[in-house]
Amino acid sequence: MSLKGKTALVTGSTSGIGLGIAQTLAGQGANIVLNGFGDFEAARAAIAALGVRVEYHGADMSKPGEIEAMMAFAQEKFGGVDVLVNNAGIQHVARVEDFPVEKWDAIIAINLSSAFHTSRLAVPGMRARNWGRIINVASAHGLVASAAKSAYVAAKHGIVGLTKATALELATTGVTVNAICPGWVLTPLVQKQIDDRAAKGGISVAQAQIDLLGEKQPSLQFTTPQQLGELAVFLCSPAADNVRGVAWAVDGGWTAQ
Ligand code: NAD
Repeated sequence: MSLKGKTALVTGSTSGIGLGIAQTLAGQGANIVLNGFGDFEAARAAIAALGVRVEYHGADMSKPGEIEAMMAFAQEKFGGVDVLVNNAGIQHVARVEDFPVEKWDAIIAINLSSAFHTSRLAVPGMRARNWGRIINVASAHGLVASAAKSAYVAAKHGIVGLTKATALELATTGVTVNAICPGWVLTPLVQKQIDDRAAKGGISVAQAQIDLLGEKQPSLQFTTPQQLGELAVFLCSPAADNVRGVAWAVDGGWTAQ
């Protein structure tokens, strides 16, 4: 139980990757602050079953004022945040000339700016305790692009840049900042893209899933939220004390091509 007594706040942790990371960190004894718009009671029960303290805050990651309230809530309930996982994210697929302006703004706010706000609010406490971990869930799209995902690719490249800059500012402290760059993970966010692909192509959902993997991910396997959680646990361990500012791909070979 390497994280016993620590507090981890995971944004967007009511489903998918965020929930998987929260569960894995809780499995190492961390108390958890959950966030997100999904079924938080189910997420809370799953974490509480691991024997740690768990709280939920429903802040909208597109709203800086609500993010400030969430960070104050974590301070009040647990005395601060030791492990900050910036995971909340949304997607929208359209060519740049068709991209709805409000979708662009929402993706930049939720997938990028929210990590700036949580980080700026978490860093003072981490510095004071001289220990902390910031783990930004970027994407293979933080390293390479795909057509029709301009906002997502811009936000994910942006969060890789934020990761590096923040890591450098904290380089002589016990606070590390790193990014995880998953390829395809079968979560609600990706299921929607598979369903859209099946509907548009007039093919089965199973075939759309095979096509989606075949296009980008040479392993032809989805990464699991639990595997990303185990990487987060490693990044929290003393073995990773000097891992700083990396963008670590877990993408079945996607970005090796
Ligand atoms: P998901 O849809 O299962 O989870 C997203 C989470 O973010 C949910 O809890 C949702 O409620 C929350 N959320 C959405 N908008 C929010 C807002 N405004 N405020 C607060 N919470 C909000 O998706 P996922 O696939 O688990 O994605 C998690 C992260 O992983 C995202 O940043 C995504 O870009 C990234 N990612 C996913 C994949 C993949 O293949 N699934 C690959 C690379 C990166």
